[in-house]
Amino acid sequence: MSTGILMEMTIEEVRAFRPEVVVVGIGSVEPHGPALPYGTDYFICDATVRAGVQQANARGARALMYPTLPVGNNVNFRAWPFACRIRVQTLMQVLLDILQALAEDGARKIVIYNSHGGNTDTLRATLRAFADTQPADGGVFVCMSSSPPDRSDPPIIQHPSPHGGESETSWIMHLHPDLVRTDKLDVFPFGQLAVEALSGPNTYFVRPWHRTVPLSAGGDARESSAEKGQRLLEAAAADLAELLVQLSQAKWTEAFPFNP
Ligand SMILES: [Zn+2]
Repeated sequence: MSTGILMEMTIEEVRAFRPEVVVVGIGSVEPHGPALPYGTDYFICDATVRAGVQQANARGARALMYPTLPVGNNVNFRAWPFACRIRVQTLMQVLLDILQALAEDGARKIVIYNSHGGNTDTLRATLRAFADTQPADGGVFVCMSSSPPDRSDPPIIQHPSPHGGESETSWIMHLHPDLVRTDKLDVFPFGQLAVEALSGPNTYFVRPWHRTVPLSAGGDARESSAEKGQRLLEAAAADLAELLVQLSQAKWTEAFPFNP
């Protein structure tokens, strides 16, 4: 029985697998403050996609995990050394090439799984650009997914942060405990906007990250734990698995994902 993890399969297993849905994870490699490794977003993405694919396939889906892409968009991280980055247009082109190759291999349902906020707008634009290459009906279906909102009561994470806080620290404590410098966990400061009107959800600008989180991590990370990280992984993997099972089971028609 194949796992659906392409990196671990042989040519015979891949030929026999005939996936219904392919998942392409994309993370990022960039600084995450004094306590966490550069690879945080990549590790989270790869672990979630792996667990989601395995769960889905155990439930009868046929989902194939493409290799997780480690490098994404980080134009707003350039103040820090070796914040790995490719340009917006390059990432779009890389993804369009991958989508086209998957289509040539017969994939008709593709999920892009994103674990880095800096990629989101580029991925959405890429989906639109790819849709423009497909016929109005019967084209390759591509959607995006990412970790679900925390529905636990009380919430798993007490001190939400967009970067390097309790959530990401808990993830890495669970996935790679040896990589967390627990003696460095602290309350990491956020930069303050001089123009308060820019703080609302209805305005947008590309935030220079060294001004937003001056230590390259923000928020109170002191209550992070491996147990919280495990719960975050379980929730994210179950959410992705459900998507993959439904996509896998849904019959392919010209109108997909709608009823004909
Ligand atoms: Zn991160």
